[in-house]
Amino acid sequence: MQLDAKIPGGPLAEKWDKHRFELKLVNPANKRKFEIIVVGTGLAGGSASASLAELGYNVKTFCIQDSPRRAHSIAAQGGINAAKNYTNEGDSIWRLFYDTIKGGDFRAREGNVYRLAQVSNNIIDQCVAQGVPFARDYGGLLANRSFGGSQVQRTFYARGQTGQQLLLGAYSALMRQVGTGKVKMFPRREMLDIVVINGQARGIVARNLITGEIETHSGDAVVLCTGGYGNVYFLSTNAMASNATAAFRAYKKGAYFANPCFTQIHPTCIPVHGDYQSKLTLMSESLRNDGRVWVPKNPEDERRPHQIPESERDYYLENKYPSFGNLVPRDVASRNAKEQCDIGKGVGETGLAVYLDFEDAIKRDGKDVIEKKYGNLFQMYEKITAENPYETPMMIYPAIHYTMGGLWVDYNLMSTIDGLFVLGEANFSDHGANRLGASALMQGLADGYFVLPYTIGGYLAGTTLEEVTTGHSAFKESVTSLNDSIEKMLSINGKRTVDDFHKQLGHIMWDYCGMARNDEGLKKAKGMIQQLREEFWENVIVPGSKKDFNQSLERAGRVADFLEFGELMLIDAISRQESCGGHFNEAYQTAENEALRDDENFCHVSAWEFTGKDKEPVLNKEELKFENVELTQRSYK
Ligand SMILES: Cc1cc2nc3c(=O)[nH]c(=O)nc-3n(C[C@H](O)[C@H](O)[C@H](O)COP(=O)(O)OP(=O)(O)OC[C@H]3O[C@@H](n4cnc5c(N)ncnc54)[C@H](O)[C@@H]3O)c2cc1C
Repeated sequence: MQLDAKIPGGPLAEKWDKHRFELKLVNPANKRKFEIIVVGTGLAGGSASASLAELGYNVKTFCIQDSPRRAHSIAAQGGINAAKNYTNEGDSIWRLFYDTIKGGDFRAREGNVYRLAQVSNNIIDQCVAQGVPFARDYGGLLANRSFGGSQVQRTFYARGQTGQQLLLGAYSALMRQVGTGKVKMFPRREMLDIVVINGQARGIVARNLITGEIETHSGDAVVLCTGGYGNVYFLSTNAMASNATAAFRAYKKGAYFANPCFTQIHPTCIPVHGDYQSKLTLMSESLRNDGRVWVPKNPEDERRPHQIPESERDYYLENKYPSFGNLVPRDVASRNAKEQCDIGKGVGETGLAVYLDFEDAIKRDGKDVIEKKYGNLFQMYEKITAENPYETPMMIYPAIHYTMGGLWVDYNLMSTIDGLFVLGEANFSDHGANRLGASALMQGLADGYFVLPYTIGGYLAGTTLEEVTTGHSAFKESVTSLNDSIEKMLSINGKRTVDDFHKQLGHIMWDYCGMARNDEGLKKAKGMIQQLREEFWENVIVPGSKKDFNQSLERAGRVADFLEFGELMLIDAISRQESCGGHFNEAYQTAENEALRDDENFCHVSAWEFTGKDKEPVLNKEELKFENVELTQRSYK
């Protein structure tokens, strides 16, 4: 299939305005004739549902949790970027655009990223109007701090709870519309299939997680805002319920999956400390504003940090990257931490950690100032590790955190299935091969508040939609096939739990498709996953029944999808014979061990097409054109 990203022509800065003018409009009286299904209530889904309902559309909104407020977005800590230039450091829309393109190692679309930078400023205004309590400076203006990959302070924040405050803003807007009757809320539902009729997305099939009932819902368009797939690695910083099911099942119905191997490993997480752990905790990147990363100069140095004198410490990021120092992008910081641990300089009991030290910042600014900025993060760290980070440096290690890959979407955020839009972390759009810190919240809210409300109107106004009800045979077929699969899972009655399979899958993905990859390992992992998948369908035990609340059954469905999806990630990683951003193939590195791109052969988005069970997917390429920035080897020195 020829992929058409539908990027408007004309100068970069005028594309979005021109496009908005050219999009067909649905007149206000007609909007109430349309029904739109939104799956997900994180920042992307919450903002989209509220905005669409505000415009007059009828919206049905679904989420797994008991309340929209509990979406994974609530966990976001450090902040949200915008090009306001409040700090007068020379920031601009262009600079945010450039930093994002460069940070993503030149594997994102110029047109999309420029639009993101343009609307970033509207997001802050919108959220302030909603009452989001962003931190302020002494004069009352909104405060900013730095995040990785940028030399200006453009990150707006609410302590280390920015996601929570932004989500409460979007949630209030959403609940206002629930109150007006324009949004009908369906919590505790898991979407298990997309229904496609005449090539158009016309509904979903969902399981009621309380009663077990399989429900069908029709609509004129479907919007997926179902988050990222980091939990394919089992241990990640994502919420326990984050999953790939909605996106993966849409892929199986014809939506292409783009760049699945582009995953982000965050450099500052609390290290793994046991075999029985099911979750990893992030220590926000914002901490690298004031914390200094170091390891002992001598390998295997077992002294406590305070016993190691300054002259025997290696502040390796500051030394190697003097311009960006501790605030290099995440992929660079993570690989460097791994490198230090690989040569024996890692600290702590496992040797798989580096220090993040606040001693200098506390001496310089005082404990009070540091507490005001990061208090809740320090508290969280102490609760988990029983170490006081005001007195002893934090120990941190990289962990899976975010997924840049996702369903392929065009400039209108529409997938390769007509009428199926994908927003937020679930799409692949704006971050290329590496996302910069504080840019996910920006993208999710840009998509939901400021992009989709226009582009979906263009689709609805320009498309013929036949009358469709849930009585259509496509709904019935989907329900039958879902029931069959659920019954099969329940009937296996094997010996291994769902979590046991998930954990093993996570080990395979982390060992062979993690921070560093090579062809031999990727191919080996592919065979291992195929075997594990076979065993799953013969030996998994899923207790309980399908007719009521059954978390084992929920997880079994998600893990079954991860077991197929993990293989797609490996196939993608094998096919991309270069290194870029978070995809680091050891065969392709510069003399200084940085990712070495191959722009001649791989300056494209890899969009994978499902061709059938146990068949190899087909690769479709969207060539990336850079007309405004020059492709260079990334340097943060
Ligand atoms: C610990 C942590 C801290 C972070 N801090 C920051 C930060 O400071 N700044 C930043 O920019 N980014 C940050 N991120 C990244 C950011 O939080 C996420 O990328 C973003 O919140 C994703 O939002 P979303 O709306 O796309 O999806 P989510 O918030 O993940 O929401 C997904 C929604 O989809 C629903 N859902 C999923 N599957 C189904 C299904 N099958 N059926 C029905 N509903 C479904 C869920 O119930 C949920 O409502 C952080 C991430 C983590 C893990």
